[in-house]
Amino acid sequence: MSSASSITSLYGSNLTISEESINDDIKTVSMDCSREERSFYHLSIDEVVRRVKLWHHTMPRVLPHYAVKCNNDLAVLKTLALLGTGFDCASRAEMSKVLSLGVPASRIIFAHPCKIASHIKYARSQGVSLMTFDSHEELKKLSKLYPEGDLVLRIRCDAESAQCQLGMKFGVQPYEARSLLQFAAQLNLRVVGVAFHVGSGCAEPQVFLRAIAAAKQVFLEAVEEGHSPSLLDIGGGFMGGMQDSLAEAAGYINTALEEHFPQSMGVTVIAEPGRYMVASAFTLVTPIINKRVTRIPVKEVISSNVALEMEVGKRSDDDGMVDTVMHFIDDGVYGSFNCVLYDHQVVKPTTLQSFAGSESITSVWGPTCDGLDQIIAAMMLPSSLSVGDWLVWEEMGAYTLAAAGNFNGFSLPGVKVFMHQHTRMYLEELLEQQSLSESGTEGSSGICSEDECCSSASSGTRPASPCNGES
Ligand code: PLP
Repeated sequence: MSSASSITSLYGSNLTISEESINDDIKTVSMDCSREERSFYHLSIDEVVRRVKLWHHTMPRVLPHYAVKCNNDLAVLKTLALLGTGFDCASRAEMSKVLSLGVPASRIIFAHPCKIASHIKYARSQGVSLMTFDSHEELKKLSKLYPEGDLVLRIRCDAESAQCQLGMKFGVQPYEARSLLQFAAQLNLRVVGVAFHVGSGCAEPQVFLRAIAAAKQVFLEAVEEGHSPSLLDIGGGFMGGMQDSLAEAAGYINTALEEHFPQSMGVTVIAEPGRYMVASAFTLVTPIINKRVTRIPVKEVISSNVALEMEVGKRSDDDGMVDTVMHFIDDGVYGSFNCVLYDHQVVKPTTLQSFAGSESITSVWGPTCDGLDQIIAAMMLPSSLSVGDWLVWEEMGAYTLAAAGNFNGFSLPGVKVFMHQHTRMYLEELLEQQSLSESGTEGSSGICSEDECCSSASSGTRPASPCNGES
C-alpha cells in the first residue's frame, strides 16, 4: 500500500491508495488495530465507482439520486458528487451535508412526503425546490411555506416481496391521486412529476412494469388538472451486493419507459437508489473480544438452516443439551448490526485467517449488556477461533452505520477508505474537468475538500484515533 497524493485533500488522510486485494488490505489494517481491539470498515471506492458506471450503462435514461439515508459516509457522498449523481435527502441535516460538499441544489430532491416545517423553510432558503408529497395537509403546508416549489406526487405500488415494505406508510393509491392534483391546482401549486418506491430490497423486479404504468395514468390526470408534469421518479428498491438484480430490474424499467414515457415525451427520469450504491462497498471487520464455551438447551439454538439443525441434532445429548461457543465482538445490534433488526438483513461472517480442524456450533454477540444484542443465533465456525481473531462481514454498507448508536458507551467502527490507482486517476480527471468547467480556472471544484467541509459535517463515525485514522 502507498499513501494517497493529490486527492488526499478531497478524501483526507484516511484514504489509502492500494493495489492489494480487499483481504490483504484488511489484514494490514487489522494488524494496526489489533492492540486497540477495534472494529473498522473497509470502504472500496472502486466498488462505488463501478456501480455508478454500471447504472449508467444499464439504464442510460435514469439519473440516479443517491438516497443519503442509506449511508451518509462523507467519502461515499464526495465520490458520488464527483461522479455527478443527484441526491435524495429526507431532512434538513441530509440536505445540509450534501450542499456543504458544493453540490448544487438542483441536484437534490427532498424526497419525504411528510416534511417538518422548518426543514421546508430550509429547503426554500437553499433553493432545493423538488419535493415529494402525498397528502392534502402537506399541500397546505407547502402552499404557506414554499408556494413556488416543484412538487412530485408519490403514489403507491408495492412489490409483492421486499426486504422492507414502505407502501403502508407513504404513497397514495393511484385512484386517490386526482383529488390531490385538483387540490394542488386550487392552491396554485405546481405538480411537476410523479414518484413511487416499490419497497427496499425489492425481490419482484417486474413490479416496475406496474408502477411505471400507474405513474403514466397519474401523469395524464395531472395534465387534465392543469399541471405540466415532466419528471418521473422511480424511487429505490434495487438490490445491492450478491443479490444484485439491476440488469433484471433495468430490463423491465427500460421496456416500461419506452412504452409509457418514450424519449419523445421529454420526461426526465430519476431514481433514488440507496442499497444498490453502497451495500457491497463496505466490509466490516470485527475483533473477537471474548469467548465462552457453554452447554445450552437445544431449544435455545435457533436456526432456519436445515444442515445446521441436523448438526445440532447429531451433537445433542439425551437431556436435550448441546455444546456451543459464544463469541463476543465490539459491534452489535445497537451499532452496525441494527440492520438485523431494522433492515431484516441476514448477516454471516467469515474468518480473516483460515483455520484447520473442527467446527463448533457458535453464536455471535454484540458488546452491550442487553440480551437482545445477539447478531447470530447459530452457525458453524472454527473451534480454534479465539479472542483477538477477526471476523469479516461483507456487504455491510446499507442501513448499518447510518442508523447506529452508542448505547452503553460503545463507539462505532471507523471507516478506512481505499481505492486503486486507476480509480484515483479517474476521479482526479473528473475533479479537474469540474474545476475547469465551473470557474474557467483550475483549483475551484464544486466539490469541497476535507478541510473545507468535513469538520462541520457529522459522519456518524467515531472520533479520531490512531486506529481509525480519521482526520
Ligand atoms: N427513496 C426513499 C423515499 C426511501 O424511503 C428509500 C429507502 O427507504 C430509498 C429511496 C432508498 O431505497 P433503497 O435503499 O431500497 O434503494
